[in-house]
Amino acid sequence: MRKQRVSLFLGLALVCSPCLLAQTADGVKPTLTLDAAAQQDLIHLGGQMMMAGKAYEYDRELSDDIGPRLTGSANYGKATDWAVAEFRRLGLSNVHKEGWTIPAAWEPETLATASMILPHEQRLHLESEGWSPSTPPGGVRGSVFYLDDLTVESVRSHAAAIHGAIVLVDGESVDRGIEGGFGKLFDALHEIGTQGAKGLILGIGTTNNAPSFVGLTAFDGSLTNLPSGNLGLEDTLLLKRLLQRGPVEVEYSFKNRIRENVTVNNVVAEIPGTDGTGDYVLIGGHLDSWHPGTGAQDNGTGAATVVAVAQAVMASGVKPKRTMRFVLFGGEEQGTIGSIRYAEKHAGEMNRCVGVFVTDTGAQAPKGWYDFGRSDEAGALKTIQPLLDSLGAGSVSDNGQFTFETDESAFLVKGVPAFVLWTPVDQYFKIHHKPSDTFDKVNQRDLNLGAATVGVTAFAFADAGNTLPQYTAKQVIDQLKTVKAYGQYEDLLQHHVLQP
Ligand SMILES: [Zn+2]
Repeated sequence: MRKQRVSLFLGLALVCSPCLLAQTADGVKPTLTLDAAAQQDLIHLGGQMMMAGKAYEYDRELSDDIGPRLTGSANYGKATDWAVAEFRRLGLSNVHKEGWTIPAAWEPETLATASMILPHEQRLHLESEGWSPSTPPGGVRGSVFYLDDLTVESVRSHAAAIHGAIVLVDGESVDRGIEGGFGKLFDALHEIGTQGAKGLILGIGTTNNAPSFVGLTAFDGSLTNLPSGNLGLEDTLLLKRLLQRGPVEVEYSFKNRIRENVTVNNVVAEIPGTDGTGDYVLIGGHLDSWHPGTGAQDNGTGAATVVAVAQAVMASGVKPKRTMRFVLFGGEEQGTIGSIRYAEKHAGEMNRCVGVFVTDTGAQAPKGWYDFGRSDEAGALKTIQPLLDSLGAGSVSDNGQFTFETDESAFLVKGVPAFVLWTPVDQYFKIHHKPSDTFDKVNQRDLNLGAATVGVTAFAFADAGNTLPQYTAKQVIDQLKTVKAYGQYEDLLQHHVLQP
């Protein structure tokens, strides 16, 4: 491990010094201007992050020492205190919390009990879905109705069967219903309660009957209107098979600890720019997590990366021209609420933001950056191509699939150049939102590579002579259409989640 890291550090120095601005074979022109001093600073910073980066230790503290960090929970509060203390210890400026209100904070108070009653008795692997109310005393018991198409129209057309039933939906139902965006999906889930269902079971878990939480908070962090369970995959498949042969009845019971109108804090800290213009880059990620695991990858890795970049900039002594602002958001898992509230509160200075860099795809070794269809971002990244290549992160993806799935989106829609670290997610999706999202899955070298990618890219934008322009509203629309994310954007506008 040590030898590998040393050789990578030497690699950084060798490839970067002579040719940082060289034009590369694919013809994309480097568009950021970095003077010799800025290039040397980048080399120092990259070396610092690989040789002495703190992301791994920070992730361990968040996931092992603090534990799961449900938005608005006591543990989430501990994590914000931890971040404030560390930013202050590192000597950052303007370290503070910024509060916003969530309609409900939610935690499970008891483990659920759940059984199939008909056609025979059998224990089921079910837990309360996030932001579900408790079941009534004595639990919920009823016939199961499988809804294969999770749309408002489908719910209404099955109203008679849904009334008084426990409705089961699974990944296939969601896949058929999600066309056009999450808002329509939440409308359909809400309609199930409106039509008088007794309960709702989400059969979207993965193998080994593990629950996989999604939350049903319809973007604002309020409770769902039905006691809703999350059922493991094998049990879901069993219920579906048995339903083809005759009636199926289940019962379940759980108690959740719910507090209304809770203040949730984002954490903000800065390394002031030397140019005093007020221009800034934002390095961000969400601090909240789901509860069955400890959120080591979703998003311990991202939160740890944010603080590790701050640590490395301070430790290496490099001074960016523009301010580097570090923001840890809450409420991402409830519909990116924390970053949306942040962008609303800071709308007046959004025109000074030259780039947003978000990490939220776990700790596999990075491939590069998602640009969400903003083609000029590739030219800017090209300026530090050798450095990114040495980290294994020299690629750019225009895949728009995740455009509205993490905290860059509130900035992207305002025209700010927005980036999300691109890592493979094949291992990540096996564990995220599940009991197995724990620190043993995190590889120190891979996490350091990702954190270093974030650090050097954000620093390059902070220290460049020029930056990318912000996109106009029309350009944002064209960008979203290019990556087939415009339907989701329209859906979020219709649901008043985002403002144009
Ligand atoms: Zn996440």
